[in-house]
Amino acid sequence: MNSSKLLITLMVSLLIAACSTSPTGRPQLITKSDAELEAQAASTFNAYRSTLPLATDRGKIDFVACVAQAVVAELNPPYSDIEWELAIFEDKQVNAFAMPGGKIGVYTGILEITEDQNQLAAVIGHEIAHVTARHVNERASRGSLTGIGIEALAVIMGGGYTGGAYTASQVLGAGAALGMELPMGRGQESEADVVGLEYMAKAGFDPRAAVDLWQNMAAKGGKTPPEHLSTHPASETRIENLIGQWQKTLPIYNEALADGKNPQCKKTW
Ligand SMILES: [Zn+2]
Repeated sequence: MNSSKLLITLMVSLLIAACSTSPTGRPQLITKSDAELEAQAASTFNAYRSTLPLATDRGKIDFVACVAQAVVAELNPPYSDIEWELAIFEDKQVNAFAMPGGKIGVYTGILEITEDQNQLAAVIGHEIAHVTARHVNERASRGSLTGIGIEALAVIMGGGYTGGAYTASQVLGAGAALGMELPMGRGQESEADVVGLEYMAKAGFDPRAAVDLWQNMAAKGGKTPPEHLSTHPASETRIENLIGQWQKTLPIYNEALADGKNPQCKKTW
């Protein structure tokens, strides 16, 4: 390959990188390196794990792991090739997140809202869809998290800490700055809903449970909505959109059942 040919190849691959398409066919501007975001996410996830209290209740751990494993098993390459990591934090927050590179975090608070495996699968499917649809990269490419993200990371990952111990609020601050917990755009939210429903249905979880989940969130939120609710607004439009997906996702669910995919993740506490 001569040098001009190499240059052309490079330019073409740059163009492809910039004009990418989301899982629902939406054109996306992607200019950031996935590898770089994944490395940042891995550091943040490790900081979370070494700082926040991890759940010790075997029943809760098994329940979440059972649902997460079943959903992850339905992903396509390259997401089926990565080793997904799961951390369950003992925390009253009604929240869950997933980070680039395949990191899933679930707070035990959300287990009080999710009544069964199907509702938890709706949460996990939604969060994983944010990753497979590269929503963090898209936000970073738009410039909405450079600056604060880099600054917060510099504070938390950088110098000053000789003992290597971070406080929970510093860790949470870095996570938020990286766009893990800040609200995604409206388009990204509904896309995560749509893609998440597909994942859960493929795994043999009833996609209709997503409606119950968001209704529970709204009902239990009361006047001060829980974290997850405030970052993921459960509007009537959202519920209508979820119901609008049944026509597409119920056949996927029935096919999964016919294929013998019948997860048995139980709440034992
Ligand atoms: Zn979301």
